[in-house]
Amino acid sequence: MDRQLEDSMEGKWIPAVSVRSGEGEEVTPDLFCLTVQIVNVVMVGRPDRWVLVDAGMPESADVILSAAIERFGQHHKPRAIILTHGHFDHVGAVVDLAETWDVPVFAHELELPYLTGQARYPEPDPTVEGGWVAKLSPLFPRDPVNLGDRVRKLPPDGQVPEMPGWRWIHTPGHTPGHVSLFREADRTLIAGDAFVTVRQDSLYKVVMQQKEISGPPRYWTTDWPSARESVKRLHALTPSRAITGHGVPVSGEELTGGLERLVREFDRIALPDYGRYVDGRKH
Ligand SMILES: [Zn+2]
Ligand SMILES: [Zn+2]
Repeated sequence: MDRQLEDSMEGKWIPAVSVRSGEGEEVTPDLFCLTVQIVNVVMVGRPDRWVLVDAGMPESADVILSAAIERFGQHHKPRAIILTHGHFDHVGAVVDLAETWDVPVFAHELELPYLTGQARYPEPDPTVEGGWVAKLSPLFPRDPVNLGDRVRKLPPDGQVPEMPGWRWIHTPGHTPGHVSLFREADRTLIAGDAFVTVRQDSLYKVVMQQKEISGPPRYWTTDWPSARESVKRLHALTPSRAITGHGVPVSGEELTGGLERLVREFDRIALPDYGRYVDGRKH
């Protein structure tokens, strides 16, 4: 679409919905990616044993609940909820869902303060290079959810509770306790916001979900050297397919090539030219 339309859209729209909102995609027979407004949640497993990864936007519990019933039936609730990190667009429905299902929530130890009402994330950076979503980012909720003792830390041995065959990988940078999930058997990666497949700081691309393997969302990433290391780590796993926190699932050459490019040209693709957390210089 041309630049003029892109600009006019960026001026008028609030990034609450994307063209994929409410849509689901079965990535493998036991992996279902549901887009809730602008963010993805993943249902991993089969009716007798499944897990929800991430918990969507605020007020989205009903959407997630009905998608779960449609996929697994009325009587099959998940065994647990796993969080890649605690940003508002990934924990929006977590309190409601954990209560409704009466299940534990797991996250990395370093993320727990943000999930138990003890700490707030640093302010998103509206000055960062990257368009209107960044400009709107001060409006995003920053008050932490409080899961109390329902939230537990992921086990130190790397196993993911109720997800046999998967392991969690610490991928900090976007947040201190950010994790990604990897299944060796078919090299499937759930990457959270360690990298995403849509440029989250371009409102047009968010709305249209235009595909592009990109670094973590800029306005909220505070530790760029760690973010770079995390992308390298994920690239080294040679995943065959990936579901990211934002954007569509990718696989094959599109993923391999895109990740390779991101590692090679991280400074150009991911690192903002300027912004509060960039330090005024490229590394
Ligand atoms: Zn995030
Ligand atoms: Zn996100």
